[in-house]
Parts: sequence; structure tokens; C-alpha cells
Amino acid sequence: MHHIPVANNNWKDWKWQLKNSVHDLESFERLAKIQFPPDTIAELKKTIEHFPLSVTPYYISLIDPENYENDPIFKQCFPSIKELDIASADIADPLSEDMDSPTHLITHRYPDRILFHVSNQCAMYCRHCTRKRKVGDKDQIPKKKEIIQGLEYIKRNTTVRDVLLSGGDPFMLSDEYLDWILTEVKKIPHVEVVRIGTRVPVVLPYRITPNLLNILKKHSPLWINTHFNHPREFSRASLTALASLADAGIPLGNQTVLLAGVNDCVFIMKKLMHKLVQNRVRPYYLYQCDLSTGLSHFRTPISKGIEVIESLRGHTSGFAVPTFVVDAPGGGGKIPLMPQYQLSSSPNKVVLRNFEGVITTYEEPRDYDYRQCDLDCHSCKLFLKADMQANSSPVGIKKLLADFDDEISLIPHGTERMEKRIAEDAIIQIGRTILQHGKKNDRVYLMHLGTEPVEKILVQIESLALNNGYSKIFAKVPHSARALFEEDGYLAEAAIPNMYNGTEDGVFMSKFYSEARKTVRNAEQCAEVLQNCQQQASEKAVFSLPHDYLLTRANVANAPELAKLYGTVFKSYPFPIHQEDYLVETMADNTEYYCIWKNAQLVAAASMEKSPEGSYAEMTDFAVIPEFRGNKFSHILLGRMEKSAAKQHIRTVFTIARAISLGMNTCFAQCGYVYAGMLRNNTSIDNELESMNVWYATLPVAKHL
Ligand SMILES: *Cc1c(COP(=O)(O)O)cnc(C)c1O
Repeated sequence: MHHIPVANNNWKDWKWQLKNSVHDLESFERLAKIQFPPDTIAELKKTIEHFPLSVTPYYISLIDPENYENDPIFKQCFPSIKELDIASADIADPLSEDMDSPTHLITHRYPDRILFHVSNQCAMYCRHCTRKRKVGDKDQIPKKKEIIQGLEYIKRNTTVRDVLLSGGDPFMLSDEYLDWILTEVKKIPHVEVVRIGTRVPVVLPYRITPNLLNILKKHSPLWINTHFNHPREFSRASLTALASLADAGIPLGNQTVLLAGVNDCVFIMKKLMHKLVQNRVRPYYLYQCDLSTGLSHFRTPISKGIEVIESLRGHTSGFAVPTFVVDAPGGGGKIPLMPQYQLSSSPNKVVLRNFEGVITTYEEPRDYDYRQCDLDCHSCKLFLKADMQANSSPVGIKKLLADFDDEISLIPHGTERMEKRIAEDAIIQIGRTILQHGKKNDRVYLMHLGTEPVEKILVQIESLALNNGYSKIFAKVPHSARALFEEDGYLAEAAIPNMYNGTEDGVFMSKFYSEARKTVRNAEQCAEVLQNCQQQASEKAVFSLPHDYLLTRANVANAPELAKLYGTVFKSYPFPIHQEDYLVETMADNTEYYCIWKNAQLVAAASMEKSPEGSYAEMTDFAVIPEFRGNKFSHILLGRMEKSAAKQHIRTVFTIARAISLGMNTCFAQCGYVYAGMLRNNTSIDNELESMNVWYATLPVAKHL
């Protein structure tokens, strides 16, 4: 392209190019020798106000003024009035880069590498920029202080081994500034590779000066990815820039964006890839156009990208084929896509097709020595000493495939099916007998045995369990029913003396329908908790409420605060205590709630649930806001509830505590409670079935009423 007379000696001076960059329509018309139709001028000006214009004279010189409307160079640098058409799919920040930004200038999405936005300036404003929302932000170049903040982040995060300097364009910084940044990044011991993403070789090739090359050489190993989108972007100047970078020993890659009307053609793409490899640039990614606002006119269907890869793979050199990726909206990262090459498979054979359509088979090995990887390199014949720290916490599908990981499925949050699963277990009545059952605790809980014949109840709860596929039935019954339950295959898991009417023992009977449900996963840990809490029980003490706290019995008016407290403290709970209605209902029924307040703030609560006939009570629902823990509030609440129980002639109180909670078990031990046994995998807490310890106490006869 020689239509711009190179009348000045400054043309090849990159600073002159930037100083003479075009920002308005009139200058563009003059330099490109184009006259825009008068009726489009107003709309073009509006577009530029929204998404600014900036092009180097060099890049303008590549435009063909005779056919500018179809010119791929023109389309990449000159605004289209279609940029103001907002499509329904448009998102300002489609890759959620702002959300994955732990600190200013850094995007940290992948485990071992980060984007470091060291510059917010570009030599040219690409019309298809994915960060269009930020283009033309009048901010200055990031200050040293801000860069140092980013460097500190990298230093703190020792898993970062790859730092990608991006922007903006890092080559918009001065040589000295870039030299300093590279020096500082390279000083960080865990940083193994540094990359620079730049469009300078395409839009301002004169920026690749001998001095810059010397700096880049100094910081080897250094990778550069550039951004050619069309064969027409290869000029003598850009070829020179690429050659000098390659001669400096820098591995070069290229990232192309698939753009409607620019390069959405298999022939153009092949030509582009060939031009790149001829110039020692390895095609790296072909990007599906992002969903950024104002880019809808550039988008192709994803299938166009598949077609491009189909036209390249096999048809040309393997290293001329980029990876086609969709950068997942919402910040999921790059997702590679390609045509299907595997057509079918059996345990013996895989059926494949090649680029010509030849359908072929690969016979699977019969005697492949498959080994479970248990991360023990000593027992493996490959004699690798892998870095276990880095490999032992896999994510994603890799996690599902890992032999040493027990996860069998990845389940998205919030599916209707899963919501149903964790929905509250239902409470039902059979005559006077009260039951709870559901998927959440995966069990039937016989809460209260009524006057119905035990044999009949046994049949009914069994069929309830079998019909729903539950793995446990758990029954709280008087001693007199014990023999019948045992005959039916139940085991006693805990027993409480004189629970019923102060005379008859209570027994917790359980029947299991799976070995897994019966086996305590963390038995050792539970045993340790029990031992430790009983040792601490010797230091018996009186616990009193610190001054400026208030303890009250809750009334209906406190239900909203109580529900909020329980909702905050418990992620999930076997009963719906985070619902006001449930609290009000149970208050009216047979449950007393107690609250500890600091000023007007509810900081702790617990409840006492009295048995229907009033002979025993369960102390339960202990919750303390994390900041207020360590004040023995549970001890104090327990003491207060015991007083109330004694007044009501309740002789036996008990509680069921998470077997792994040292705090709660210690509380009951210190308050004189006796350990009565463990309920195996009994209760769903935070969506995990946990084993529970039963503790009881016999209250003194109340002297005053
Ligand atoms: C593309 C990208 C990277 C680099 O990804 P590679 O696949 O390693 O080239 C890193 N961070 C972010 C946020 C990215 O978008």
C-alpha cells in the first residue's frame, strides 16, 4: 500500500506514529483518502463518543481506499454504527474479569497463572476489543505503587508460575518502565515463565526497536503472543518486527479472533496461518468472538470456527492449526472445541475418522497393565517422583478420573432435583405416634411412640423406609418396647435411665439398611473427642452471664431474630429452625426458646423441647454467633433451661450433640451430663450425615414452685 506518501523521516518513529494517531473522522478521511457519505457522519460521531477512535497512520496506510467498506483492515480500526446496537446476549464484562480480580491490575482465574494488566493503553483501539468497556479510560499508565501492589500479590501466591503481562498493550510502556517490571517479576522465585500479549507487531511494528529487543533478550525466557487477524496485516514493517523478535530468541505465538466480515472464511484463515508459520509465529488460539457489548456485528456462529478447524487439521501442517476456544461467559475460562473425530467405540475398538473422511479403527490393547494411582510413587513401576502437593487436589473432570479421589459426581448447585433432596424432612402422625422422615436425613425417625400396638408401628415404619429407600430407622422408645424392636433387627445405640415418667428407661433403637450407614467414618476422631471432653469435665465450675448481656425466654415477637440467628449459624439443620413459622408453631406447642442479647442484638440461643406427656425434655438448637463464642453461653443457656425444666417437674433431660464437636460435648460433660451412647450417621448437618452423642442428666426435685 503506497497511497500515503511517506514524505517525512519520522514515519518509522513509533512515538511519531502515536503522536499522529487519528482520533476523529475528519483526520481519518484525510489520511485514508476516504469520503464517508454525509448521512452517516452524525451516527459515526455518536459511535465514537461512546467507543473512542484511535488508529496509527501506519495501520491506516494498509487500508484499500477503493473498497474500504469491505476492507478487513478498515473494519478492525474504524467504528461501525452497529456498535451501538445492543444485542440481547451482550455483556459489558462477559469474562467476569473484574470479578476474578483479587487485586487491582490482576486477573487470577487459573490455578498457576495470572493476567497482569500492566498497561491500560493500546497503539490502536481494535473495534472488536473484548475489553471494550475500558477502551479510552482516561487513566494514566499504572503507577509504580500499583504495579508493586500486583507484584506483592504474585509474591504471596506461590502457586503462580506463569505471569502474562497484558493490558492494554505492555509495549505502550517506556523501555525503562517495562525493563523494571520484567526485572521485578523475574525476581520472584516461583515465577517460571513470563509472557507478553501485544498487538504492536500488527498495528505499530516500529515499536520493536533495537533497544526494546535488548531488554527483552535480557529477560529470557520470555514468550510473546501477538494478534494477527488477516493476511493483509503482513507488511514489510511487520515482517521485520517479527523477524527481529524471533532472532532475539523469543518464541512467538498468535491469537486470532474469528470476526464476521474480516476473516470468517476458511481460505483466508489458511492463508493467515501459513503467513504466521512462515514468519516463525506459531498459531496459538483462534477465539470465538466474545459477548462484549457492541460486538454483535462481529460475531459468527461457533460452527464457523469448527469449520475453520476442519479445513486446517490434516489439510495443512499440524503446527499451523490453532486451538479454537470459546472464552466461557461468566469467567469459566477458555473451552476448546473441535470437530468430532471419534465416531464410536466398544471395549475392543475405537472407530475414528480422519480429515479425508476415511473411517478407521484402533484396536484397544488386551493386556494393558492398569494400575490404580494411590499417589505412592514408590510402588509404581514408572519410577516418577511426582510433586504430590501439586497433584493431590485435582479439580473438575480430572478429579472424577483420579483413583485417589472418592468423588463420583460433580453436582451443580441449585438444581431442582438437588433442592428437593435437601428439602426438610416431613413430620407425620400415625394415630398418636409421631414420625419424621425424608431424604435430607435419609431416615425415618420415630420421635414419639403413641398408644398404637408396637408391632403395627414396626410394619408401618419399615414400609416407609423401604418405599423411600432410606438407609436408617431411628426410634426413641420406652424400655418396654425394646424387646420387640430387637426382634425386628434393631440395635440399641443409647439408653437414658428413668426417662419416661421418671421410672422407665428410654432407649434409642436403630435399624440400618446399608453397611455404609452403619459404619462411622471418623470413629477415631469421635473417640478422641469423647475422651478429651470427659477429661475436661473434672474442672466443674459455675458459669455466669457476663454483665451487659441479657438472658430471656423468647416469645413469638422474637421469632424473626431467632430465625435469622439460626439461619446464619447453621448452613443446614435437621429441622427448619430458620423459618419463623416453624419457631412460632413449636413455641405454641412444647418448645421453650431462650435468648442471650447484647444490647438489642441476639447473640446466642437454645431450646428445650418437652415430651408430649411432659416427663422429659431435650436440650437442643444451641447456636452462638461466631464472634461471641468462648463466653460459655451454651453452659449458661443450659443452666437456665434446667431451672425451667425442674420447675415443671421434669426429671430427665437429654441432649444430642455432634460427635465431632469438642465444644458441645465438653459443655455437657462440664455441666454434669452422662454419656449415653452414640447414634451412628444419624443427622444431616451441612449436608453430611454425622454421628451424634447422647448425653443425659437427672435433675434434682424442685424445692420451690
Ligand atoms: C487466557 C487467559 C490466561 C492464559 O491462558 P492459557 O490457556 O494458559 O494461555 C490466563 N488468565 C486469564 C484470565 C486468561 O483469560
